[in-house]
Amino acid sequence: MEKERQLLVVFPHPDDEAFGVSGTIATHINNGTPVTYACLTLGEMGRNMGDPPFCNRETLPLIRKQELQDSANIIGIKDLRMLGYRDKTIEFEDEEKLINHMGSLIDELNPSLIISFYPGYAVHPDHDATGRAVVKAVERLPKEKRPKLHLVAFSNNCIDELGEPDIRHDVSAVMDTKIAAIKAHRSQTQLMATEMEEKLKVNDPDMIAWLQNERFWTYSIKN
Ligand SMILES: [Zn+2]
Repeated sequence: MEKERQLLVVFPHPDDEAFGVSGTIATHINNGTPVTYACLTLGEMGRNMGDPPFCNRETLPLIRKQELQDSANIIGIKDLRMLGYRDKTIEFEDEEKLINHMGSLIDELNPSLIISFYPGYAVHPDHDATGRAVVKAVERLPKEKRPKLHLVAFSNNCIDELGEPDIRHDVSAVMDTKIAAIKAHRSQTQLMATEMEEKLKVNDPDMIAWLQNERFWTYSIKN
């Protein structure tokens, strides 16, 4: 991974950064690239409350905020922005407002690379709406000012429709950081993390491959 002028990561939920891209972010940070993570919501509508439960509807946003901060610290992200949108409502936000908000972040940070979700191929409506606003904000920039867009897709049809991802990062060197970031989102990942560690103990090849490889599609803007 080459050093970037600035990386901007935009996702709607605490934990979106941990699963698919924390190895890539940590590698950029190790390479000296400044990283900003803009997280739109606190995931306060999440159904998981921990297992056994250690939060409730009232405390979940506070807990997830702390988990997000912990995950960012583990990955090494120094500039974490919590944008204050409501969980599960991004698709109903005024789109123009959202695009302008993304545009103002891009103006301020002047990123050479943005990582977000691939609209239409990111499974959750919040994911798709976030990716769509990011892409539209970049489309509005003059050609020479547009950052690269590396987008995450994981819908069942993504490879059929988008083709194979053109970017694959081997993040095995920072796998411990990635596992710790996933575990930091304790209220959401406790059960999954236990299963993950059991599989790692027996060197389960699928689990190792899943953790070590991060894949992106470069989004190219027509005209
Ligand atoms: Zn999410």
